[in-house]
Amino acid sequence: MPGPLRLEFVTSADRLDRLPPTRAEVAVVGRSNVGKSSLLNALANRTGLAHVSKTPGRTRLLNCFRLDEDGRDATLVDCPGYGYAKAPAQMRASWARMIEGYLLGRDELTTILVLVDGAVGPTPLDVQMVEWLDHHERPYDVVATKHDKVKASTRDRRKRDLAAGLDLDPREVTWVSAAKGVNVDRLRDLVRTRLAP
Ligand code: GDP
Repeated sequence: MPGPLRLEFVTSADRLDRLPPTRAEVAVVGRSNVGKSSLLNALANRTGLAHVSKTPGRTRLLNCFRLDEDGRDATLVDCPGYGYAKAPAQMRASWARMIEGYLLGRDELTTILVLVDGAVGPTPLDVQMVEWLDHHERPYDVVATKHDKVKASTRDRRKRDLAAGLDLDPREVTWVSAAKGVNVDRLRDLVRTRLAP
């Protein structure tokens, strides 16, 4: 099915065993400000979809969206942004435990979309996340954001550097722009493939 993902907010959970049962699940992670909300809205072509993940009380929860398309029993989970500098260390540690427990313990996960700011390149936290997923042999796909913020003449090099910083082949990175709609269709295809019945 082409076109926007038909995502509907279901619930927010503070631990993996409070998430609704599903057959297949895609998680979305990235540091704060990477462009995660903008991208979720672009995938669904709905301006307010990811708003729910930013409402007070939900920013530290696993926000769960059902993919409401025929034949699919699938969900997408928007994980709290990591590396939010203003949070006290103790709070950061408890988010990390929650997200780690989820990413390692959720058997239904078919991929973890790791968002990396394409205008900034991988930060040490992004590198840590990818190395950690590799170490635990968890499935993931790297998505670079903000394609429109990088000058056309430097994009090839930026993509090579971004991939190299994560020890990946550039072909393994999908570089999107939520603002301009670049490669949003490609990412929709990827999500649908990962959630295929
Ligand atoms: P989140 O914290 O990861 O949910 O990030 P947001 O979606 O709130 O975006 C953070 C900032 O990046 C905002 O100022 C957005 O307007 C900006 N942003 C997000 N996506 C894009 C994009 O594709 N292009 C550009 N130029 N800016 C973007």
